[in-house]
Parts: sequence; C-alpha cells; structure tokens
Amino acid sequence: MSYVQKLKCLLCGTEYKPKEIKYTCPQCGDEGILEIIYDYSKIKKIFTKEILKMKSEYSMWRYLPLLPVDDITKIGPSKVGWTPLYEVKRIREDLGMSNIWIKDDGRNPTASLKDRPSAIAVVKALELGEKMVTCASTGNAASSLAGASASVGLKSYIFVPQTAPSAKMVQLLVFGSVVFAVRGTYDQAFVLSIKASREFGWYNRNTAFNPYMVEGKKTVALEIIEQMDFQVPDYIFVPVGDGGIISGVAKAYKDMFSLGFIDHLPKLVAVQAEGCPPIVEAVNGDGLVRFVEPKTIADSIAVGIPRNRVMAVRDIKESKGFGMAVSDQEILEAIKYLGSKQGIFAEPAGSTAFAGMVKALKEGKISRKEKVVVLVTGNGLKDVESAKKAGGEVLVIDPNLKAVKEAMK
Ligand SMILES: *Cc1c(COP(=O)(O)O)cnc(C)c1O
Ligand SMILES: [Zn+2]
Repeated sequence: MSYVQKLKCLLCGTEYKPKEIKYTCPQCGDEGILEIIYDYSKIKKIFTKEILKMKSEYSMWRYLPLLPVDDITKIGPSKVGWTPLYEVKRIREDLGMSNIWIKDDGRNPTASLKDRPSAIAVVKALELGEKMVTCASTGNAASSLAGASASVGLKSYIFVPQTAPSAKMVQLLVFGSVVFAVRGTYDQAFVLSIKASREFGWYNRNTAFNPYMVEGKKTVALEIIEQMDFQVPDYIFVPVGDGGIISGVAKAYKDMFSLGFIDHLPKLVAVQAEGCPPIVEAVNGDGLVRFVEPKTIADSIAVGIPRNRVMAVRDIKESKGFGMAVSDQEILEAIKYLGSKQGIFAEPAGSTAFAGMVKALKEGKISRKEKVVVLVTGNGLKDVESAKKAGGEVLVIDPNLKAVKEAMK
C-alpha cells in the first residue's frame, strides 16, 4: 500500500479517502481538482537520506515511498527518469553564470517529461483492473501514455489536435494507439476525451482531471534535489502549459522539506509563450487566470484553458516566483543556442524555460550569481519542422573537394 493519506479538493477543501474517488471532487465537478496528501510521519520512518543513498534503482521509482503506488507489481518495464542534470560549462562561460544547471528530460523512453506521469497512470489503471485508457494531449502526454500502455498491454485511445507535430502522431501509431485527430484545439480535445471516457468506460489520464499526474511530474525535481546533493537553487525555470509540471516541481521540494532533507524552498519561474500566457499574466497580475486563444510554435504549451491553473498559480505565488513570457523567435533562438553551445536538442516547449531564463537575466530579474536550474522537457526530434526553422541551411555541393572549398567561402 502507498503512503497516500487523502485526496483534497483545491476548490472546496473536502477531503476524500484514496479509494473513494477516481478523478475530481464530486461536489465541484470536473473543475474540482484533487491534491494528493501523504502521511510524512510514516514515510520518515522508512525513507532517510542514508537509505536513499544506498538505493541502486536509478529511475523515477527510486522515490517509491513518495509515489501513489499501491501495487508495485503493476509498474511497467520502461526505464523512466534519472535523466541527466548537466553543469553546462560552455553555457556558464558564455553567460557568465557560475551556477546554472540544465535537466534534460528529453532523455526519456518516448522523449519527454510526460513519461513520468504516464508511468503512474498505467500503474493506477492496472491497479483498478482497467483494460483501456485514454487521454487528450497536445502530443507528448499522448505519446508517453501510448508507449507506457503498449509496454504493459493496455489499449489506448488518444485525442490530439489535428495540428499536433507529425513525429508525435507517428509515435502514437507505432505504439498501436487508436488516434483521434480532432479538428479543433487541445482544449476541445480535452473535453471530448472526458465525454468519451464516460461513454466507453476508458480510464482517463487527462492532466489535472486525473489527480495522480502531478505526482509523476514531481519526480523530475526529486531527482534534481538529489543530483544537487540537497542544495536548493534560488530559481527553477519551468515551461508551463496546463501547469502540472510546475506544481510537480513545487510538490517535490515540499515533500523533501517535509521529510527534513532540505531546509528551504526555491522560487519557481513560469515561462510561457507570448501568444499563450494565461498563467504568466495571472501570477504577474491579480492571480486570476483568463483564457486565451493559443498562438505559438510551442505546441506542448499551447493551452488556452490551463487545467491545473488553481494549483499552479498558488504554487508559484507561494514560492515568491514570477512569470516570463517569451516570443516564438526567442524560443527558436533558444533551440539553436542549447544545441550549438551544449549539444542539447530541445523541442520548442522544451527550450522555452531557457529562453525565459535568458530574458530574465537581460531584464535584471535574476542576477548572474544566483543558482538556477532550467528544465528542458522534450526532445527536438519531436518537432523537426520547428527545429528546421531554428537550425539554418545545409550546404548542397557536387561530390568533389573544389565544391567543398567554394561552399566554405
Ligand atoms: C506538457 C509539456 C509541458 C508543460 O507541462 P504542463 O504540465 O502542461 O504545464 C512543457 N514542455 C513539454 C515538452 C511538454 O510536453
Ligand atoms: Zn470540491
């Protein structure tokens, strides 16, 4: 059995027992997102820094006592997590920052951070005896759920906007999903997948609607804490769509704080595209999230109605962080910079947090001396069309040395 004590509604505060509820608060409806609360006094007895250091499991399951898993035999075979946290020496030199780290979560089985929550979704589905799963996604939640489902023999039914990058679509098909390419936005696909889930009885992994996804997303930061040897950075820059990853990062630090592994919390910076900044505007303004019509190249964060908005805005404000909006041009420049300076290949949403960090530095919102961690959340091969815009042109030549010499001029 897991150490989950209760599920608490973010809107009305009602608490539920773990087995009592599958998705959202019955009193508040689909907007009544639930937060997972653990019994830290019990976890403390079996999970110490010393025990952690001795563990030979190098994946997200390293932090099992802090995860909502009741039956460990239901964990899938794919290796998710324990991705590298790079010291990025060349970027440090170039920017004159001595304390910046980049976590490359594009190095997961289906090439995005979403493998973490999807691994949890599959465990929860199998624990409930489900045979079929579904989600709506801008692309990465979908491809990760499709891959994780295939690895354990679950059938997946996926809703994505018709405009999702083709590499993400191809992943779905190869993993054997039934793919519904919706003529509409992610926000519309989200509503449709919940309707289909109710109609056909499919287990639903949708961000925030499924209360366990933040628990998977938090493992990225549980790893960062350990990889930094329990030093806490001043700032963590996170790309934000629905707001699940940033709440996951907040949860990881709060978990580790509750266990006494760290003594304070970092400030969280939400980075969004200028063409879709509802969370950034809320945290920098009056705290209210106003829906927008998304217009950005960063498809993974093109979310007009952020589903985890209440938790995300709370977490960013509590951390004393702020929001940054960056242009598509800045996102493309960040792709090229991460690739050419450090050999890290990011998709547009994957480079967005770095673009936000560079901008915050330019605008004096952070200083060069501060300890900063930046998340890269998805691999560049996920969206080759955007990468082409960032990368520049090849030199087409005849097969002789003279042609090489001429082209080099
Ligand atoms: C999903 C995703 C995000 C945003 O995560 P949210 O939990 O929706 O805020 C950022 N980058 C990539 C690559 C993603 O797939
Ligand atoms: Zn409620």
